[in-house]
Amino acid sequence: MNNYHFLLVSLPHQSHINPTFRLATKLTRAGTRVTLATTINGLKTLPSVPGLSYHFFSDGGAAGKPNYLQEIKLAGLSNLKELLITKAKEGQKVDFLIYGICLPWVAEVAHELHVPSALFFIQSAASFSVVYHLFKSDGGVGNSNIDPSGIVKIPGLPLLRYSEVPSFLLTTHTLAVVFQEHIEILEKHPDSFILINSFNALEEDSIEAIPDHINIFPVGPLVSGDTEEPFVSDTFQDSDRETYLRWLDSKPEKSVVYVSFGSLLKLQRKQKEEIFQGLIELGYPFLWVIRNNGENDEEDVMRYTAEGGGLIVRWCSQVEVLNHVAIGCFVTHCGWNSTVESVVCGVPMVGCPHNADQKLNAKMVEEVWGNGVKAVADGEGVVGREEMKRCLAVVMGGGEINRKCENLKSMAMEATAEEGSSHRNLHRFFENLKRAS
Ligand code: UDP
Repeated sequence: MNNYHFLLVSLPHQSHINPTFRLATKLTRAGTRVTLATTINGLKTLPSVPGLSYHFFSDGGAAGKPNYLQEIKLAGLSNLKELLITKAKEGQKVDFLIYGICLPWVAEVAHELHVPSALFFIQSAASFSVVYHLFKSDGGVGNSNIDPSGIVKIPGLPLLRYSEVPSFLLTTHTLAVVFQEHIEILEKHPDSFILINSFNALEEDSIEAIPDHINIFPVGPLVSGDTEEPFVSDTFQDSDRETYLRWLDSKPEKSVVYVSFGSLLKLQRKQKEEIFQGLIELGYPFLWVIRNNGENDEEDVMRYTAEGGGLIVRWCSQVEVLNHVAIGCFVTHCGWNSTVESVVCGVPMVGCPHNADQKLNAKMVEEVWGNGVKAVADGEGVVGREEMKRCLAVVMGGGEINRKCENLKSMAMEATAEEGSSHRNLHRFFENLKRAS
């Protein structure tokens, strides 16, 4: 793929830019040139990688507002068209466009300017299968037909309760129309492609349930659990790295509980307290990311630090942490990135899902892969200390769960190795793109 130029367009949010940056790095390693475009009000410092350059465009000044995506579309449409034209004039023609899940308008630009394009679906194949089977025009279930008290049948997946359908697909969510639009684009342009941060052996049933005419390429995991491989830090706001790595170095193997709820969730104060009490009653050392955006975070961090046997940080390099030998388990909200990172590092999970695709991911962890347990929350959505202790005892107890984690970790490494399924899928994707261009 030498001399090919990819333009990747992503929202700046951590869970979008992380996998997009990792995909960009993978593409540069395969010998392509990559430009990663995101909004100017996003993350300020992005790592420098040979072959990778960045382009920033305006988000229309609407960060955090309800019409955010619409503003980005308005500002981004003309900016990207201009970028493509300028690059071509400068002799750096963009050969392929890859766009994120909230930016279907990039496909419009691609089709208008006759540049082949792919959707980068940053969630699981299971989630994609739900999107597809809900919104396909020929016999789709339709999100308005889902019965809140019933069961949803999606090919390739265990039966889902209403609460386990990704919340962004429900009629009540503003993003549902965006996902519907993706399926419309796929149907209108059957030569469109989809890249996915998953691998065949992990999600075989979900992938097989997606019909052959949908050009889906699982090329993940995009992050490596191989500690021998040079680590490119893609964490953009990490100030305590030396401290927590030194602290982890001082702990015995598989003794530490790592607690983190991703980049967006705000935990209720009661939830933090229950987790804390569960941790100190069991006595495991813990490394906990509290991002200072929830109720009384400042005050709670001081108290937990004074009373507990753990270390609290504002942010960490999560993959590096999960890869550390001292980590025994991960208490997580089961965002897809966190779930995949835990799989590749072979760390068992306690799933405490809240919204989006998290309940579906936690279900897969407990019921399909067996590499963790799903904590049961009370009527207010809080996982109590006794339930936390029950779950921690299971995942810290070793045995079958650890064996499954090791097995999944090996499968992930096999998938990305030379001749592995994801490696082959990436090359199949390249071959298809060459034919399309
Ligand atoms: N992350 C990190 N350090 C932290 C917390 C999160 O590097 O202290 C990264 C994590 O590795 C993952 C992303 O932020 O890549 C969170 O994405 P995920 O899909 O798990 O959850 P979301 O943020 O969308 O809820």
